[in-house]
Amino acid sequence: MAFSERVTRLKSSLIREILAAAQRPEVMSFAGGLPAQEMLPRVEWDALPVNLGQYGTSEGEPELREAIAAQARALGVECDASQVLVTAGSQQALDLAAKLYIDQDTQVLLEGPSYLAALQSFQFFGADCLTVPLTAEGMDIEALRQCLETNKPAFAYLIPTFQNPSGVRYTEACRDQVAALMDEFSVTLIEDEPYRELIFDDAPATPIVSRLKRTSWIYTGTVSKTLLPGLRVGYLIASLDLYPYLLRLKQAADLHTNRIGQWQALQWVGTPRYQAHIQELRNFYRARRDAFQAALVRHFGELADWNQPQGGLFFWLTLRQPIDTRLLLEPALAQDVAFMPGEPFFSDPEGNLGRLRLNFSHVAPERVDEGLSRLASVIKAAQAL
Ligand code: PMP
Repeated sequence: MAFSERVTRLKSSLIREILAAAQRPEVMSFAGGLPAQEMLPRVEWDALPVNLGQYGTSEGEPELREAIAAQARALGVECDASQVLVTAGSQQALDLAAKLYIDQDTQVLLEGPSYLAALQSFQFFGADCLTVPLTAEGMDIEALRQCLETNKPAFAYLIPTFQNPSGVRYTEACRDQVAALMDEFSVTLIEDEPYRELIFDDAPATPIVSRLKRTSWIYTGTVSKTLLPGLRVGYLIASLDLYPYLLRLKQAADLHTNRIGQWQALQWVGTPRYQAHIQELRNFYRARRDAFQAALVRHFGELADWNQPQGGLFFWLTLRQPIDTRLLLEPALAQDVAFMPGEPFFSDPEGNLGRLRLNFSHVAPERVDEGLSRLASVIKAAQAL
């Protein structure tokens, strides 16, 4: 069939397939990045204005853009509402950025590991993915410098706050160094922050884009992790040189983000009620993180190494005896346990065997122990082969 050349690069998403398999109620799923069902807030629709059934503007609802800009300014990001574009989740922001920059073989710079769906989207448009490894402090700065001295990436895509999948939060020093290098080498920074608000300690770190002096940037966020992912409301904030292009790409993609979801998001963003809800989420997820950590120590203490995450939704485990964790999926599912193999989070999966991403927010604590015990047995059995 005569499809476009790029369609040959379209990969099926492993995570979607797993999530489909994990739909059975008896499956304990550590696979997705789903918020806990019981923490989805009850939302009211009664006051929804009728005129929101009409077409809206491509930029997004003006009041929502104002609220998002105010929130970003409070984090130190210099911007105003005219730089905010409301998108269909932050996923769409990544899609628009990819369309803006990527042709066949365009170099882009990512963390190793990086967010699976970003990797897929960038590769779909033909990107040549350059990978800079992560450490517990953030990006390996020496490796970043070397990479920038020998390559010319169109942009760097980073998730500096509770990274997906590794859970890493860049230190203050690392944030400063990354910003300085982006400026020095004139690389556009795309900073993706869906997990910023899901923080369990009190060591916030301001966005890297707020530390830039010269280079272009896109900052993206979402209400998916703090309100409702089903609303499909996210946003990007861009430096003035990029904004007009992103706006035209948005128009071409879908005219505008659904106004109903935007209205609901506006009932929350910037309100005391939202702050209270986010505080509840933090307490809830912190308790789940703690219970998960204790169960991990029991069942994975001998098998793997990990750092306890200070925010976000994931533990990232490195097996002491590396094996291809993709091969563990089927036996794990046969035991009614789903997890996310680590290999697909790297642009070179074969060179990065032996890691697992485990979501700690979704499975009820009373089932976590059983789930992790079964998963550990599956791993031990495979390693014994
Ligand atoms: N970026 C990262 C790093 C994510 O983990 C996710 C969701 N899992 C997204 C973007 C997309 O989120 P959404 O489109 O729901 O805003």
